[in-house]
Amino acid sequence: MAENCIFCNIVTGEISSDMVYQDEEVVAFADIHPLAPVHLLIVPRRHISSPAEVDKEDAHLMGHLLAVASELARQQGLAADGFRLVANSGPNGGQEVYHLHFHLLGGRSLGRFV
Ligand code: 5GP
Ligand code: ZN
Repeated sequence: MAENCIFCNIVTGEISSDMVYQDEEVVAFADIHPLAPVHLLIVPRRHISSPAEVDKEDAHLMGHLLAVASELARQQGLAADGFRLVANSGPNGGQEVYHLHFHLLGGRSLGRFV
């Protein structure tokens, strides 16, 4: 837990969010500034600051995050038409919150890139 981290505080419930999924390792909630009709953030409970900090010991957790994203995409009715999963890393990647997360975007055509 990183004290000043927004997503750590969302994980603990200290900061409120529109939570759509929770298990022992992962939570998912609606992005506060949605860029598409469906815009969820899939977040590990454990603080990992960015995709650049992921190592091989995190392989199970990373697979779990992707499986949850896929389950949520099906649940949100995105599986047939498609969706986008995005993980931004560092300043050039446009990362704003330094707690690892995947964006799940869908519900409209997203073009080549967001
Ligand atoms: P990044 O740019 O780091 O990949 O994405 C961070 C995302 O977190 C942004 O899309 C932003 O709208 C979202 N976000 C930032 N603060 C909050 C918050 O307090 N609550 C929620 N639900 N989303 C947030
Ligand atoms: Zn954190």
